[in-house]
Amino acid sequence: MQYDVVVIGSGPGGYVSAIRCAQLGLKTAVIEKYNTFGGTCLNVGCIPSKALLDSSEHFHNAAHTFTTHGIELKDLVVNMPQMIARKNDVVAQNTAGITYLFKKNKIDTFEGLGSFVDKNTIKIKKTDGTEEQVTAKNVIIATGSKPTSLPFLPVDKKRIITSTEALNITEVPKHMVVIGGGVIGLELGSVYARLGTKVSVVEFMPSIIGTMDAGLGKELQRVLKKSLGMEFFMNHKVTGASVEGDVVTVTADNAKGEQVKFEADYCIVAVGRTAYTEGLGLENIGIKTEDRGNKIPVNEHLETSVAGVYAIGDVIKGAMLAHKAEDEGVYVAEHIVGQKPHINYNLIPGVVYTWPEVASVGYTEEQLKASGTKYKAGSFPFKASGRAKASMDTDGFVKVLADATTDEILGVHIIGPRAADMIAEAVVAMEFRASAEDIARICHAHPTYTEALKEAAMAATENRAIHI
Ligand SMILES: Cc1cc2nc3c(=O)[nH]c(=O)nc-3n(C[C@H](O)[C@H](O)[C@H](O)COP(=O)(O)OP(=O)(O)OC[C@H]3O[C@@H](n4cnc5c(N)ncnc54)[C@H](O)[C@@H]3O)c2cc1C
Repeated sequence: MQYDVVVIGSGPGGYVSAIRCAQLGLKTAVIEKYNTFGGTCLNVGCIPSKALLDSSEHFHNAAHTFTTHGIELKDLVVNMPQMIARKNDVVAQNTAGITYLFKKNKIDTFEGLGSFVDKNTIKIKKTDGTEEQVTAKNVIIATGSKPTSLPFLPVDKKRIITSTEALNITEVPKHMVVIGGGVIGLELGSVYARLGTKVSVVEFMPSIIGTMDAGLGKELQRVLKKSLGMEFFMNHKVTGASVEGDVVTVTADNAKGEQVKFEADYCIVAVGRTAYTEGLGLENIGIKTEDRGNKIPVNEHLETSVAGVYAIGDVIKGAMLAHKAEDEGVYVAEHIVGQKPHINYNLIPGVVYTWPEVASVGYTEEQLKASGTKYKAGSFPFKASGRAKASMDTDGFVKVLADATTDEILGVHIIGPRAADMIAEAVVAMEFRASAEDIARICHAHPTYTEALKEAAMAATENRAIHI
């Protein structure tokens, strides 16, 4: 088989890239080692975690806020097997959607492990042991990532688990230890805390979601503690874990160097993800991964050191996010046909789907301070928003950071209801290099959460927010 493009991996990077290649008239094939398409994102990442977050949020609201709304429910129970079954159904719908899109775009698909024979030849090793080869003018590596493991903390996938197993627990645990206060740990921790599990987050750093604007992590920690009873053990260095029967014991050193022990039914290791290149045969074409993180180095066109071989998504540098992988997939397809695509890496939004949601784009206050940029900040609390009062979602705020001289928006940081959706307005504004005054003068529908962004922009412009 001779193709214009062969894509290895069918996650959001790979499948989007393949579709864009096909749209541009390139004869395209996708190789996927897993038996469904969609990669981490659709199978064990974004989609199943959001399905469980939505289900658990309904339960939590039914148990805790419905009475205030005037809705009385009796004998509320969690049917965990049904919750997991619904999640599986959501996953199946999404992965079937990719199969449909591949067919629609006349993309050939191969199931098996793809590995380089040479830069234009890929061997596919199928599960039944047979092999097949395809050739291509261009190859796009989109093999994604896997959960990072800690050498002193072996995952047994039963009691010491990763995010993948945490999406399939069919009981409500009594106590769960989450190692890592990053996005994945907090989202999965929230799922179980909402269902009644005691959740202890053990984090090495002094703050959660440490790469985001510091104000967001502080507020999120406060709210998760208050609304879900989650406990946070910051500045704790996990040293090991052991399993006896159904009990896992996690040990950590606190800031004073004293040993602390946690006994739980489950321990989720959520300390990040590592680029996945195993079995790809990179050595056969002379590509060396970076020493730390196993990432494949690429140039500004996402091309590796081998001409015609590109890499996108989690397997290369940058944020490990589905939308970043997708945009890179489109970039490479358009670059191959000679177009001049563009990605603004500073404007890739980051989102945490806890409740309240957290969303961020552009520079953080800490980055602006470190670079000596003169900026002004305006913020607006959701407790002053009519819409937030109506829905009882008054935690959080919007912060707008703008250049002190030009008023250009440099960063927007939101913690609050539907922050994940609200951040889109900030991304559009910043892509068009809007000023804070631009947002402040644009009409926003009332009552909406988005009015909080307008108010924060007003506060940043001339300290003229109306409702505070
Ligand atoms: C629990 C969880 C929640 C997440 N939530 C979000 C979220 O809400 N929003 C967000 O933006 N991101 C989220 N992410 C991150 C997101 O899933 C990844 O950033 C995204 O999937 C990366 O896409 P990718 O195409 O680079 O790789 P992947 O999605 O990892 O896909 C890579 C594919 O390549 C296949 N593969 C690997 N090697 C080979 C080979 N040699 N031959 C054939 N096939 C191969 C794999 O089987 C896999 O299907 C989440 C991740 C997790 C784990």
